[in-house]
Amino acid sequence: MRTDVKENNLKIPPIKKQTLINFLLSVFMAAVVCFLSQGEFFQRIERVNSDLYFRLSGGPSVLHDPITIIEITNNDVSKIGRWPWRRTWHAAMAKVLKDLGARATYFDIIFSESSSEADDKLFAESMKISGDVYLPYVFADKPYDIKNVLMPIRIFSDVAKGTGAMNVYPDNDGTIRELPLVFPTPTGTYPHITLKVALDYMGYKIKKINPESVVITDGMEDVIIPLSANKSIIINWMGKWTESFKHYSFIDVLAAYQDKLEGKKNSLSVKDFDGAICLVGITGFGLFDIKPIPLEPEYPGVGIIANTIHTIINKRFIHRFPQWVSFVILCIMTILPGFVISGDKPFRETLIVILLGVLYFTCAFFVFHHGIMLQLFLPLLGLILGYMSVGTYNFVRTAIEKQNLFSISITDGLTGLCNIRYFKVLLDTEIKMVKGGITKNFAVILSDVDHFKKFNDTYGHQVGDLVLKEVAKVLKTSVRGSDIVARYGGEEMIILLKNSSLSDGMAVAEKVRKNLENHIVKDDKNTYKVTASFGVASYIPEDTMDTVIRRADEGLYKSKETGRNRVDNIQEPQPAQASNDQL
Ligand code: GH3
Ligand code: MG
Ligand code: MG
Repeated sequence: MRTDVKENNLKIPPIKKQTLINFLLSVFMAAVVCFLSQGEFFQRIERVNSDLYFRLSGGPSVLHDPITIIEITNNDVSKIGRWPWRRTWHAAMAKVLKDLGARATYFDIIFSESSSEADDKLFAESMKISGDVYLPYVFADKPYDIKNVLMPIRIFSDVAKGTGAMNVYPDNDGTIRELPLVFPTPTGTYPHITLKVALDYMGYKIKKINPESVVITDGMEDVIIPLSANKSIIINWMGKWTESFKHYSFIDVLAAYQDKLEGKKNSLSVKDFDGAICLVGITGFGLFDIKPIPLEPEYPGVGIIANTIHTIINKRFIHRFPQWVSFVILCIMTILPGFVISGDKPFRETLIVILLGVLYFTCAFFVFHHGIMLQLFLPLLGLILGYMSVGTYNFVRTAIEKQNLFSISITDGLTGLCNIRYFKVLLDTEIKMVKGGITKNFAVILSDVDHFKKFNDTYGHQVGDLVLKEVAKVLKTSVRGSDIVARYGGEEMIILLKNSSLSDGMAVAEKVRKNLENHIVKDDKNTYKVTASFGVASYIPEDTMDTVIRRADEGLYKSKETGRNRVDNIQEPQPAQASNDQL
């Protein structure tokens, strides 16, 4: 017997092709991610995710915090009376803050209508004496026009040290993240009130307004304030409302000042006011001016002003890279998995991709501490999509390769039948199934081509090989799909007939014999007639794998002895192995 296993033509792509496919897939995904990144949906998710910078990093380190907030709380309203208050209260506050040494006092209230003449006069007088009071106005919707503005009344704006716009626009999820710093109008560009207050405090002036920045200078040093879309500054949030700035309630300031004048003990810390920027604003919930910010869902408007002034006077600006840099980062992150994943070690490769994500996250936070806000969500989305696409391709490819290798290991290369090693595994399983009562019986047919040696000698080995292939085909097509046909070795083949008795086996073997006898093998020169002899055995209880095959072999020997092209067995019919039909 000669076992001639030829190698299958396995279609494993060469390494270079795989790398190219990985790369092309990654590039395709990078393009998809860049495209997606322009959509409003993903930009919104990006914005919400970038809030993490403030939530996790705890705000910028406080360098210089001269801001004190005087809150008009619900308690103040219940004590002083319904809002709006008489302006004598604001007149008092302007005077008190001046007396306490405030460098700047800002009322976050638009005094756009006159009240009682005497009260208005008193407030105007108080502001004039103070000389450091700032008042806001509001631009109507874009395009900005100074003629279309909600202004404080003339007697107030005339005596205010400075005025500026207080417009703030939320992102489309309602959260305030940026604030327009300058307002271009047909007649000139106007500052936001935060810029006005901060510049006066710092002793700086606006030098130049560029499309993407405002340059300010104190005459010696130029400072660039980066602007994002709509000429907005990204607010570098200090922290939660209760954890940042110094807070006093309106009425407490007045009461403590009164106590101070009378020489009584008081709760005022004078250093919180001396040289400070004092911001007076409404913080009572249920009044108005409460907005969500990245750190908190409810944050008073005056706090937004405070954070912006703090960002400017500490020069803690947040830069965003231009669009093309974001695209480059997105592409790199999406393409990276293509270099890491080959599909050979899925667990390790997945771990590396997770580590890459963590590394990016860490780097992004590190860079944020230096004032640069990288995209957070989109590059990680790119990494995940890159991983999923390249990973899926590679994991499927390696699974197919493994499947191919398995097929090769169980297949005979010449005939395409399964090899004897695998046949024995299946036969062993079948014996166990019968012993376990799961199936009733099985039969084995062993076949051997008649005078094959002569055939080889006459026509050559190539024709011999062709004949073997044809014989295999006839065997395979003559039995049920569930039966197993294997190459036993040389020109011998073996068939496992499941759920079959000896007589079933004999009948099938006879059918195969006839089919083969009637089959004509052709090549481009000749036609050949082939016959084979068959030995049949069926399982009996004391059988092992070897004994049942040996009995079939003896049946085959008998058919060779008795003239060839026959079907024989040497088995005594036994009651235990009667035909299934009879059971
Ligand atoms: P018998 O009728 O008694 O079986 O006669 P036989 O000539 O077939 O005798 P035997 O079984 O001894 O001969 C087997 C021959 O099969 C010998 C060997 O050259 C040939 N053979 C075995 N494997 C292959 C193969 O893969 N390809 C070809 N072409 N010939 C093979
Ligand atoms: Mg033989
Ligand atoms: Mg033979």
